[in-house]
Amino acid sequence: MSDHCHACGVSLHMPELKGPAEDFCKYCIDDKGELKKRDEVRQGIAHWLKSWSPGITEEQANERACHYMKAMPAWAD
Ligand SMILES: [Zn+2]
Repeated sequence: MSDHCHACGVSLHMPELKGPAEDFCKYCIDDKGELKKRDEVRQGIAHWLKSWSPGITEEQANERACHYMKAMPAWAD
């Protein structure tokens, strides 16, 4: 089992975030247990960034989410 979600980086040691997949949290996989599309995950991360960075714009949040995802194994080219 991984320590962190390979798509968004949250800790998988928190039981409420653990889903059916070994390497991903429950927010990054769909109903079939497959990794969501890059855009969907990015929106989720952007939303999360905005929740603790009041005042940043949608565009800034998306930019930061893109940058953040570059460090995630699931999105590495
Ligand atoms: Zn995740």
